[in-house]
Amino acid sequence: MSVPRGPAYVAPSPRELKRERKRLLLVREDRLRDLGGLALEMYKRDRFNTGLVVERCAELVALEARVQEIDALLDGTVSLRGAGGSVCICSAPLLLGAQFCATCGRPVSASSVAASTASGPRE
Ligand SMILES: [Zn+2]
Repeated sequence: MSVPRGPAYVAPSPRELKRERKRLLLVREDRLRDLGGLALEMYKRDRFNTGLVVERCAELVALEARVQEIDALLDGTVSLRGAGGSVCICSAPLLLGAQFCATCGRPVSASSVAASTASGPRE
């Protein structure tokens, strides 16, 4: 087994985490309001753009996942290099069961596939 050596991930201090958490919650509130406005606008125009809604929801879920991750880190219940040890191609640690990287927003399956199967398609 070879472990890819990316740039070392430096764990942020609790103070930084709390600051990031606060910022993320503000962004989340903002996005949530935008999403509501967007949905209402679509309703008024009778033109629903499902893809756009899904995209916005995915962003929100990624934000929430990051907030939960920060909570876990602050609780000390999870260590960054702990169980699973899956890491996104952007070198951010991935949550167990996460669909998207909370840091860069890449879909987790795609990034882990990219990491594990570097070889071309089998034919
Ligand atoms: Zn990432």
